[in-house]
Amino acid sequence: MSAGLPADPSEPAELSVVGGRLVTPDGVRDGTVVVRDGKVAALLAPGEPVPPGPRLDARGRYVLPGLIDSHVHFRTPGLEYKEDWEHGSRAALVGGVTTVMDMPNTRPPSLDEPSMLAKAEVIEGTSRVDYRFHMGADPDRPELLAELDPRIASSAKVFMAGHHTAPVVFRDHEQLRRAFAAAARGGVRLVLHAEDQHVFDLLDASAGTPDSYGGYEPHRPRSGGIVAVAQVVRLVREFGTSAHILHVSSAEEADLLSAAAAEGLPLTYEVTGHHLSFTHDDTTRRGPRTRLSPAIRESRDQKRLWQAVLRGEVATLGSDHAPHTVEEKNRPPADAPPGLPGVQELATAVWTGLRTRDVGPDEAAAHLARLMGAGPAALFDLHGKGRLAPGADADLALLDPAERWQFSSRDVQALCGWSAYEGWTFTGRFTTTVKGGRVVWDHADGFTGRPEGRWLQGSSRSLEVAR
Ligand SMILES: [Zn+2]
Repeated sequence: MSAGLPADPSEPAELSVVGGRLVTPDGVRDGTVVVRDGKVAALLAPGEPVPPGPRLDARGRYVLPGLIDSHVHFRTPGLEYKEDWEHGSRAALVGGVTTVMDMPNTRPPSLDEPSMLAKAEVIEGTSRVDYRFHMGADPDRPELLAELDPRIASSAKVFMAGHHTAPVVFRDHEQLRRAFAAAARGGVRLVLHAEDQHVFDLLDASAGTPDSYGGYEPHRPRSGGIVAVAQVVRLVREFGTSAHILHVSSAEEADLLSAAAAEGLPLTYEVTGHHLSFTHDDTTRRGPRTRLSPAIRESRDQKRLWQAVLRGEVATLGSDHAPHTVEEKNRPPADAPPGLPGVQELATAVWTGLRTRDVGPDEAAAHLARLMGAGPAALFDLHGKGRLAPGADADLALLDPAERWQFSSRDVQALCGWSAYEGWTFTGRFTTTVKGGRVVWDHADGFTGRPEGRWLQGSSRSLEVAR
């Protein structure tokens, strides 16, 4: 039985993706995706007539909605020596990602509407994926959150702790309260780096800076995250602000946030690929590549984060794609900046992790489609994205579920040229990415066409066209 827009089956399609296993919001099943005008026109069951027109053979592969990575730092403007949109968006496509949400800690940072408009102008014509921005919340101008035009952004990043590239940090509790109040008035979702700077300042004053990578996690311990999350829970309860905690790293934070969500508070959270893939031992042994912020913690934390993924407690997976040059990462431990590239590796690493944990392939595919599809699309106003269903944008990621292959530096698309996953044996490999009904990347043939990614506007509160 076909679902979708009524169409004459003899009417040619722009593309038919034939014979794959479709990962839809209603379940995982065999079928064909019919594309017309850049949208999914219909999902056909096996045996239904496929319309005339070009065909893409998807046999033996999962057809996922083009994935969303709602946490990337493509470093533009001002830090393009670390990463740029040409490389970042290529890395995304190879990892099955067709939409990204970019963070504001650039030079200058994007702390208001004019700076986001300027950033959109710089990016125009350089991205192969669609994009939307998180604005940066400015401690000195919290009122901007009450007035934010949802077409430009509907979310704002709050840094509660500083690190090498954090532009503005909320050190003052009263400023943080004002930001939560203003965001609630403006209907803005806060996305938070929730570690408490006062906790870290206190520890730094007595313990000093780390002189080894093994010293890094104790230098930026879980207490910073736990204290910050407890503050956020209190503020969400007081103001009703929607808040999404980024890169949750410890079992205790996951426990607190899951309990707060169960109470009905509008609190969600993200887990990164690296907190699911590595432990503190990796950082101790292998050094700066997994020197991250928040730090990578113990295997019991990793276990709790996987449990949160499998139980549906986690709302989104993010890569926190935040490249630095090799030279920067190789500085002494106290100076090595936190961050790694990850938009390319995220979905494949998580697929590998799910399969390693004996999650069946259909169920694993459904997890990916929720955590990098429907989940972020709903939180961040991404219309037409994140689900494989009639009427949605024809953004598709084809995944060979079984191929085992070793990831090497030659595979890295990010400008920095390195990956924390070098030497890993992955299970599963993206083979083809379709955007707007056209094949934009294929494992055999590489990238096709020009960078035609669009800045995605959110829905308007009013009918005003321009301000
Ligand atoms: Zn980040």
